[in-house]
This record gives sequence, structure tokens and C-alpha cells, in this order.
Amino acid sequence: MGGEIKSVYRLLLKEYGEQGWWPINNFYSRSFKKRKRTPEERFEIAVGAILTQNTSWENAKKALHNLREADALSGEEMGKLREEELARLIKPARYYNMKAKKLREFLRYDGPPERERMLGIWGIGPETVDSMLLYAWGKPEFMIDAYTKRIFSRLGMCPKDVEYEELKKMFEENLPEDAALYNEYHALIVKHAQEHCRARPACRGCPLENICEKKGIERQ
Ligand code: SF4
Repeated sequence: MGGEIKSVYRLLLKEYGEQGWWPINNFYSRSFKKRKRTPEERFEIAVGAILTQNTSWENAKKALHNLREADALSGEEMGKLREEELARLIKPARYYNMKAKKLREFLRYDGPPERERMLGIWGIGPETVDSMLLYAWGKPEFMIDAYTKRIFSRLGMCPKDVEYEELKKMFEENLPEDAALYNEYHALIVKHAQEHCRARPACRGCPLENICEKKGIERQ
């Protein structure tokens, strides 16, 4: 399994190149994954991770833009906003009333960046916590999303209804404990889900076609 997981990574990297995640103020940089984040960057990433729950990054980006324009992209300034005002600013990210509550819960958290502790924040599940820890704090926590489940179940490497923690463990046990690698791998998974392994997959020309079992999809 370890060899297959590494092969998928190599093939995706060869096809798409480095993705430069996480975009700070909409700027992608290949050096980002290797350097320490500033506190401002951490905050922006953590807020972005909440805003992008159940919506596209494009929508989250518009909400981040509104927050930046309103000078509310810092813990101190965001904390001064009334919940309704915060909800209004993040409206493009959808579910804005709920997300405003989640942001305020996150602002109240003053513990360390530790998975178990952060999983106790209301409204913040494992996917969001792992994306915060990986991208904002540079910690080696592999994050799983619906794209990861879709691609790796079609490849035949996990069941379609695999549990979050089980799939996370599969990656972490078969890859070196390396935050920069996890950063790039997840970004490549997202890219691949957008380019080829979409809901209706475009298998022709897919860089993984030779190793894919195409489980659960009609033969093309
Ligand atoms: S061959 Fe098709 S199903 Fe398999 S990874 Fe590529 S696009 Fe997805």
C-alpha cells in the first residue's frame, strides 16, 4: 500500500506540478509549504478553513475579501464585530449565520494548536482542524476530504464509505511524517478531483489511469 500511495503522489506531481498552497491573500507560492507562517497568515488560513466548509473556495475567497476590506481579518478586529455584522460580511461563503457562530467559537479558543483540544471547538470537525493544523501551523496532519475519498475509492485503495480517521491513518502510516509533503499531496488531490476525477470522471488522459481500478464507475 505504501508504494501505491507514493506512486499516486509522484504521478500527480508530475502531471500538475507544485500547487503553492495555501493561498495567502489569493497568492500561491511554491515556497509557502516550507516556511513558518506569520500569526496573520495563520489567522487567515484558519478563518479560510471554516469559510470553505460545504462551499467552494471561490465563495470562501469572496468572504475573505470582504473581511479584509472591513479590516476584520485579525482576531482582535473580528472579535469587535457583532455576530450579525460578521455574518453579513461572510455571506458569500453560504451558511453565513452558522459560520459566524463558528468563527466566534474559534476566536474564543485560546489553547494550543493540538488536534484533540481543537476538536473540542464547537462546529469544527476533523477536516477543518486538520486543514488548520497542516496549512496554518505546518503540522504533519494529513487532511481528508470528499475528493480524497472519491479518488482513492475509485483507485480501489479504500471503501467508498471509509471513515475519516481510517483513511487519514492509511496516508500517515504509509508516508514519511512530513508536513510539506502532506500539504502538497492534499493540494494535488484537489487539483486532480477538479481536472479529471470529477463527479463524472474524465478518465481518458488521466495520469492515474494505468493504476486505477475505476471502482464504482461505469467503464468508459
Ligand atoms: S482513471 Fe478515472 S476514476 Fe481513476 S483516478 Fe483517473 S479519472 Fe478517476
